[in-house]
Amino acid sequence: MRNLFLFAFMLVASVAQSQVVIENRTVHEDAYEIAEIIAKNILDIDTLTLIIIDLPKSSTLLGAVVKNKVEPHAYVMLLNSTLSVKALRLTMSHEFVHIKQYEDEGLEIFGDIWAWNPDNRKPKQGETWGSMTFTGYEAREFELDAQRREIIVNKKLLKIIKSNK
Ligand SMILES: [Zn+2]
Repeated sequence: MRNLFLFAFMLVASVAQSQVVIENRTVHEDAYEIAEIIAKNILDIDTLTLIIIDLPKSSTLLGAVVKNKVEPHAYVMLLNSTLSVKALRLTMSHEFVHIKQYEDEGLEIFGDIWAWNPDNRKPKQGETWGSMTFTGYEAREFELDAQRREIIVNKKLLKIIKSNK
């Protein structure tokens, strides 16, 4: 009986620990559904607190993601308010790959320095860290990785959205 209580307690505890909480404060109505599908069904991110907001109107970026350095598993995703639904899906796929890199693949950004050394890969020397200032966007290994993977994530996303309708 005691073991049964213990088991039930552990089950509740494990459910409470892993949860995906998404808050969509953007103009994009689809952003919530897209985020939920990518996190839960595509990238297997089981613990996440994500607030999605619009980028400032003056911004030329498509999107960005910022990690909360104090609270674990917490992020703010910023999205351009002018994106079409198609561009929104691709941009969110890209930003979510960064969340996956932060959560499971050791991406860290300390001010100007980025460090990325995923355990399951063997990067070449010089690829594991760099300066944001001196390594152009196109040369950042984690950006190249995100550009490759966003396409795969986006394809899976589209398939799931179509099958849900
Ligand atoms: Zn990126």
